Amino acid sequence: MPIDPNFEQNLEQTGEEHGVAVWGETEPPEKLGIRGTHVAVDFDICLADGACLEDCPVDVFEWVDTPGHPESEIKANPTNEDQCIDCMLCVDVCPVDAIDVDSGRAGRT
Ligand code: SF4
Repeated sequence: MPIDPNFEQNLEQTGEEHGVAVWGETEPPEKLGIRGTHVAVDFDICLADGACLEDCPVDVFEWVDTPGHPESEIKANPTNEDQCIDCMLCVDVCPVDAIDVDSGRAGRT
């Protein structure tokens, strides 16, 4: 199941971690929610493929450790989402549709 592009309407912001917003209820280590707002990554879908880190022209993503998560024990965190230029490369290359980018969401949190 891909990331919900309407997560901002469907979920509450429940916190902040690694410099970005956390959306939705979390139950670490198995349930980690959506991370980021302008550039959003569903950590429960991310399987650490790494294409987004390799392809992003402005280095928005950084690995963070998520030991014990069933999909992968590292995740692509959109740490530098404020640098995003909306090229949509990360959205296109993610093999599991874990990323949604919407400049209209930027700065709302
Ligand atoms: S849309 Fe482009 S600039 Fe923005 S995070 Fe994705 S790859 Fe990086």
